[in-house]
Amino acid sequence: MASITLKNLVKKYGDGFPAVNDVSLDIADGEFIILVGPSGCGKSTLLRMIVGLEDITSGDLLINGERVNDKAPRDRNLAMVFQNYALYPHLTVFENIAFPLRLNKGKYSDDQVRKLVREAADTLELTEHLDRKPGNLSGGQRQRVAMGRAIVRQADAFLFDEPLSNLDAKLRGQMRSEISQMQRRLGVTSVYVTHDQTEAMTLGDRVAVLKKGILQQVASPRELYEQP
Ligand code: ADP
Ligand code: ADP
Repeated sequence: MASITLKNLVKKYGDGFPAVNDVSLDIADGEFIILVGPSGCGKSTLLRMIVGLEDITSGDLLINGERVNDKAPRDRNLAMVFQNYALYPHLTVFENIAFPLRLNKGKYSDDQVRKLVREAADTLELTEHLDRKPGNLSGGQRQRVAMGRAIVRQADAFLFDEPLSNLDAKLRGQMRSEISQMQRRLGVTSVYVTHDQTEAMTLGDRVAVLKKGILQQVASPRELYEQP
């Protein structure tokens, strides 16, 4: 688990207007923070800066108080969940979930891999599907496999980039409550990008509003969405 601190973060692509412009935010250990804002406002860029997939132009990024600007993604121990699942079609659900552990060759014994995968599958109610391939799963099940991959790494924080936006309304509702339950069980610090107000209302401890790279407002979902 981790606190994440953004201090005056700036990202410039080339000479243009900054995609992320002087963003400061303290995300508490175990907090579920939602990132909203119009398309192109810098949400993905900010997420990618936190996970380490995008260089920071200026400012500081701290995880548990330690500056990580120059740390490689693998040394930040954060897990990203994408909307397109990014599953391997030729691997079983078990091997898809185990994949991050296999990357760390030698770090985990086969017994440990089995134990961690089974625990994650149990949390996500995927146990009976472990031998299947992603092509035989529903959208919601695939999304759960993608989350299993994040859980199995025992990441300090989860970063979600519109994870439900490809699902139909019914599945979205179902996954929303699953993510909410998972959050209550695991209490992992999460940063969650969405366009969906219902997701922000049901999942978020706080909502951060970005516009043209600038942080406009940080408030509870209630403060933000309830009419005065
Ligand atoms: P959002 O996720 O809110 O839609 P992005 O973070 O994707 O916004 O984009 C923020 C701004 O940065 C946009 O103006 C976008 O065009 C620009 N941008 C994003 N990625 C790149 C890139 N790799 N190169 C140049 N400009 C980029
Ligand atoms: P390399 O730099 O060796 O080509 P990558 O940059 O693809 O490899 O990934 C290196 C490590 O960074 C991965 O093992 C993983 O732990 C982490 N990583 C890469 N992409 C992500 C992501 N989207 N979310 C979280 N961690 C990632």
